Amino acid sequence: MATTETTTKIDVEEAGPDKRTVAALTEVMTVLDSIGRARDALGLFLVNSSSGSEYLVDTSQGTCECPWQQYNPRQECKHRKRVAFATGERPIPEWIGADALDDQFGMHVDGEPRRAVADGSAAQARVDDGSVTDPAEDPFAVHSEDEPRTKRAQRESIDVAFLEQPGVYEVHSASDSRYEVDVLEETCTCPDTADRCKHLRRVDIEIREGLVPRPDGKLPDA
Ligand SMILES: [Zn+2]
Ligand SMILES: [Zn+2]
Repeated sequence: MATTETTTKIDVEEAGPDKRTVAALTEVMTVLDSIGRARDALGLFLVNSSSGSEYLVDTSQGTCECPWQQYNPRQECKHRKRVAFATGERPIPEWIGADALDDQFGMHVDGEPRRAVADGSAAQARVDDGSVTDPAEDPFAVHSEDEPRTKRAQRESIDVAFLEQPGVYEVHSASDSRYEVDVLEETCTCPDTADRCKHLRRVDIEIREGLVPRPDGKLPDA
């Protein structure tokens, strides 16, 4: 996948699926451009994450308030990436499956997300009405070749059950290990020291697909 060198004029994420780009596309985030500190300010966006954090992204300055960005000033954090994708400023890369995209895409901003297509041009994509069809309707289909943890999260036989409010899930793996995942704290009791272990990712996927109750214990909307 990484060898697909489609050269484009537009700024497609051709380097392939890096972690922050995958996070920017798949994590539950809301991008708002007309409330609070972002109201009436050109280039300012508020990004809310599912864990309740809110960061101000300034696209004209190329800044974000998040701690990661402060430590990595020369790179682009997932919030800035998300804003670029959500507003359509940057096309959504081909390698991400429509099913893997966060449902919130493009819902609260004026821009319209665009989908990169094979010839390198960008097609308008209505992400929310499902018109972006993906041949693989299976939510656990692997969409990102270079993201081994997500891959494993999708492939392995893992049972996820809601344990307690708010947002604690029990994960039971094929190897008969049991871990507790807290989606609000973004923690897991497994020994994996990665940022987001496969259990956390799997629980996110299942919540997004409506296979388990949401973090507040409510059943997915019928
Ligand atoms: Zn950020
Ligand atoms: Zn884990």
